[in-house]
Amino acid sequence: MSEILDEIRDAYDLWGIRLEAATYGTYYRLICGRCGNPIGCVGDKLLPGMAQHMLEDQFSLYAAGLIGCKCGYQSERARAIDAVRADAARANLA
Ligand SMILES: [Zn+2]
Repeated sequence: MSEILDEIRDAYDLWGIRLEAATYGTYYRLICGRCGNPIGCVGDKLLPGMAQHMLEDQFSLYAAGLIGCKCGYQSERARAIDAVRADAARANLA
């Protein structure tokens, strides 16, 4: 297990997203940690710090439910991480 993969795994773990090895290449499927639905994929060709930065950039999108699982788990995670910011992201969408 590579260090960068551990880092990516940890970054997504905060959002309630699991990584699952795909059958080919260096891509990993992103799986909702609550209901197990696939919600995308990520490559492991990232530099240290990139995964966290990427998720940080996507905070509003997850908070507003624009990306992430339909069950709303990542949106709930956003509220748990930063409620004020999550509410603001949702208000901006309305
Ligand atoms: Zn889900």
